[in-house]
Amino acid sequence: MEQKKGKLILFSGPSGVGKDTLLDILLRKDPTLQKSISITTRLKRENEHDGVDYYFITPDDFEAMLDSGDVLEFAKYGKNLYGTPKKPVDKWLSEGKTVILKIEVQGAAKIKKMYPLSTAIFIMPPSLEILEHRLRCRGTEDEDDLVRRLEIARGEIEKSRGYDYIVINDDLESAADEVLDIIEKIDKGGFILCSIRI
Ligand code: 5GP
Repeated sequence: MEQKKGKLILFSGPSGVGKDTLLDILLRKDPTLQKSISITTRLKRENEHDGVDYYFITPDDFEAMLDSGDVLEFAKYGKNLYGTPKKPVDKWLSEGKTVILKIEVQGAAKIKKMYPLSTAIFIMPPSLEILEHRLRCRGTEDEDDLVRRLEIARGEIEKSRGYDYIVINDDLESAADEVLDIIEKIDKGGFILCSIRI
């Protein structure tokens, strides 16, 4: 039987950089892309939908999923846990799809070890000042959470050097086109399902 291969894309960047908006544009421009929906213990924001943006679950349910081996990777970000459900990712890759994981830097490093041929893309803000401005305008966090996210952002930006590509999100449409270009150029045989070892 012919082996089917998919591409795995790790999509990271500091909170407020515009990852979700970029992802929406990417999926609109290329509906064949498959976005993984993470589980999180974070509370749902007003504009978010369960099963679309995340699966919003309790810490106990998160723990149970970890115990059952259904989580590919997970990380603590701020006070909350975030994780990638394993089964859908395995299935999409085996179907030859291009799968995008929205993931912070610790999780991306873990996945890169498990899937060395995955492609890691870091979305960079034009500056920290612009990032803070965007986060404040978004208005979804209280001051403590916002300050924590900016602190985490500094560390994440330092780690961006380990990524395969850095895309500056100055203009959403051109940043999305840049990401699509990168995905297009990945060698079609670049990711081999058999290399998965968990
Ligand atoms: P937010 O609370 O802003 O939605 O997400 C916080 C951070 O968690 C972001 O950097 C986001 O990319 C990351 N994140 C979302 N889902 C996952 C996941 O499944 N695993 C990991 N490691 N990080 C995630």
